Amino acid sequence: MTSSSFEGLGLAEPLQRALKAEKYLKPTPIQAQAIPLLTEGKDLLGIAQTGTGKTAAFALPILHRLSLEPAQLVPGSPRALILAPTRELARQIGERFTAYGRKLPLTSAVIFGGVNQHHQVKALKAGVDILIATPGRLLDLCTQRHIRLDKVSILVLDEADRMLDMGFIRDVRKIVAACHSKRQTLLFSATMPPAIAKLANDVLNHPVRIDVSPKTIAVDRIEQRVYFVGAKDKRTLLDQLLADPAFDRVLVFTRTKRGADRVCKQLKQTGVPVDALHGNKAQNARVRALDDFRKGKVRVLVATDIAARGIDVPNISHVINYELPNEPESYVHRIGRTARAGAGGAALSFCDQSERPYLKAIEQLMQRKVTAVDHRLVETPPEAGPETPRRGRPAQAPKGRRRGGNRTPHSSDTTWTRTPHSSEAPRTRTPHISEIPMLAAPTTKRGQVSRHSGGGHR
Ligand code: AMP
Repeated sequence: MTSSSFEGLGLAEPLQRALKAEKYLKPTPIQAQAIPLLTEGKDLLGIAQTGTGKTAAFALPILHRLSLEPAQLVPGSPRALILAPTRELARQIGERFTAYGRKLPLTSAVIFGGVNQHHQVKALKAGVDILIATPGRLLDLCTQRHIRLDKVSILVLDEADRMLDMGFIRDVRKIVAACHSKRQTLLFSATMPPAIAKLANDVLNHPVRIDVSPKTIAVDRIEQRVYFVGAKDKRTLLDQLLADPAFDRVLVFTRTKRGADRVCKQLKQTGVPVDALHGNKAQNARVRALDDFRKGKVRVLVATDIAARGIDVPNISHVINYELPNEPESYVHRIGRTARAGAGGAALSFCDQSERPYLKAIEQLMQRKVTAVDHRLVETPPEAGPETPRRGRPAQAPKGRRRGGNRTPHSSDTTWTRTPHSSEAPRTRTPHISEIPMLAAPTTKRGQVSRHSGGGHR
């Protein structure tokens, strides 16, 4: 049985009050399914990504259970441990625990690498009930004997597939082995590659499986379009799209850190308030970029996949894939940054000839075609050089003949004025960008998730 209200989920009263303060009206599907089982102490295998409300799905029952079993704080010895792949995600989870648990006498701390450990060690010494950590720093502090994990009775492995991608899986196994053997374990993953299925099998005890995978959830609410465009015309296309004020909070993805810096620099030159977010940036620069984006000081954030993991910024009007990802799952993660918590959103992809195989893989994963936009670029600046080095083998020519009728003489790419790939593309005439319906502001339920708007990090 699942409940359509938080009252029906049996959570402690201080949590109910915190949820009201957060203006959460009803549980998301994963919350409705998971919370009652987790408050009973069951293990869980959750196939879910950020955007589904999974953080509250595990944070609320953890807070509930720990509040029912008050215990003396022991320095460096948490009772619940949440492992997350990136600092951004760890921080966001920490913020959520603070928000949901603010009416409870429980303490939490977040630890991650890339910053001085001094404040983290200080917080640990004071004693915490709940520890949120990235694997590397956690093991580091365990080795230094600032942390012991043998009292951990609730363990969450969040975004397990990403921890695998980032090479953390051995660290994760070491950490699991150091926790109490009689514990409740939760594992969340957006995808289930064999190594994660094996990990789940090894660490979970008769788990309940809940699947709210993106194939069926977020993707349906997001308007997706692809622009077939030459690599050297992407810059002009981006400028043209951003000329439309409906693009008011835009997340642009590139495959590489250098690509992110380059796009950021180009946009700066045209006066767009923009910043970049990637792994080469110092931690405080990353935090500032995210805060400025969240507050609206920065209109466009250019990010790489790993840095963007767990970005939880409400009301992102558009996600733009300036470069398509070579892993199709990353596409689903990227576009999930819009359409948060029940809202709608728009995701636009720029696909040059070399990226056709990536698009094909994405469409296969989603089991649907992405509608192509029939568009015309106004002008390509003569100084614009090739931006995306052609990599790997060239994409296969699309089936059927190429249509050259609308070609613009200076374009070196054969495919960007027409859309031979998609049978759904409009064929009558090339509309001006502002006439393409999906380029108007998406129908987001703005205000639904109000807690972040205008607010910064604590
Ligand atoms: P998550 O999937 O945990 O990253 O959550 C995505 C976003 O949805 C976060 O901004 C949460 O604050 C928000 N959220 C989570 N649960 C709810 C809910 N039941 N109602 C409204 N917003 C929610």
